[in-house]
Amino acid sequence: MIIEEQASLKNSFAINSRAKYLITIESEDCLDNLEKFLSNNPGKVLVLSEGTNVILPEFYDGVVITTSCNHINKISNAEVKVGSAVNWHYFVNWCIDNDYYGIENLSLIPGSLGAAPIQNIGAYGVEVGTFVKSVRFYDFNDQAIKVFNSSECKFSYRNSIFKNMDILILEITFEFNKTGLNLSYKSIEEYIKYNNIDSSNLNQRQLAEIVQEIRKARLPDPSFIPNVGSFFKNPLVEIDSISISSFSLDDLIIWESDSGLVKVGAARLIELIKDQIPNNPNISLHANHALVLVNLGNASQKDVTDYANLIKNKVYKTFNIELELEPSIIKS
Ligand SMILES: Cc1cc2nc3c(=O)[nH]c(=O)nc-3n(C[C@H](O)[C@H](O)[C@H](O)COP(=O)(O)OP(=O)(O)OC[C@H]3O[C@@H](n4cnc5c(N)ncnc54)[C@H](O)[C@@H]3O)c2cc1C
Repeated sequence: MIIEEQASLKNSFAINSRAKYLITIESEDCLDNLEKFLSNNPGKVLVLSEGTNVILPEFYDGVVITTSCNHINKISNAEVKVGSAVNWHYFVNWCIDNDYYGIENLSLIPGSLGAAPIQNIGAYGVEVGTFVKSVRFYDFNDQAIKVFNSSECKFSYRNSIFKNMDILILEITFEFNKTGLNLSYKSIEEYIKYNNIDSSNLNQRQLAEIVQEIRKARLPDPSFIPNVGSFFKNPLVEIDSISISSFSLDDLIIWESDSGLVKVGAARLIELIKDQIPNNPNISLHANHALVLVNLGNASQKDVTDYANLIKNKVYKTFNIELELEPSIIKS
């Protein structure tokens, strides 16, 4: 176990952030020492991995915990166990190299394995939860290691049971049973058609490259333009509850969903009201994607939350739709 004091915290929104303590857990053997440290230093605890889905405070007055468990163990032709510190995109490439099918559509999503089940990361018609057999984690409240199977994880759109638990994910077991590719997502279909690609001959690697090209054209790379990806979830609402006093339903992007509710494209909602959001010298919407907030250089956590609240209020007043944030706002 590594303990650092007054440590700086990496985060893709590039907020200059430090924590009182940063602890790195190298393996499960460290958990006894972690318990002792936490009982000697009572207070707030935050689990943080690559920091690509959090808006951090300038100072976190507590203990930040991360892991460096970076093993990938083949169990069978279908099953793989992976440590929480493995980088997600690295793992996608590893799966392609080792003929495990299914997560190539999730290529280039930033962040770690450990965070992937928390919000059930998803993109281009695929969600990680489909391939999770079980999640092994440390429960801070019970001070015990537990394993949840897939149904206990309660995966849903950008959500899982873990969002509301005080846990440290240590390892994920994946089960890959599929062999075919998932091409049935509108932007993938359009790309294939536009580029005259013979989809019957596509392999996993080529599909991953297509996904990467589509992503690069739309999403800013956080190494150059600090951001946390989509800032708001696509809201699920009753279609009759949408206010159409300023715009018509045809102006919106609306998908049917299984629940009887409709899913509304949050990016389009923001595009329609963005001219009414005052300029801010530290933060703005990305030119290619209205769902992405970018740090123009010196944004503080307050700049971000104020700006996000302006957007939320304007969307609510215009459409009677409540937007929900995707990244976690971490209190100081
Ligand atoms: C450019 C860009 C594009 C993105 N595109 C997508 C996308 O297409 N789809 C998508 O779903 N997401 C997307 N994201 C969001 C982000 O990549 C994912 O949420 C990712 O899983 C976060 O990983 P992380 O390691 O950075 O987590 P962090 O930001 O470090 O943490 C995120 C949350 O998970 C918790 N957490 C982290 N690690 C652990 C652990 N080991 N145990 C328990 N809790 C943990 C943290 O406490 C926090 O609440 C994007 C982000 C960016 C910057």
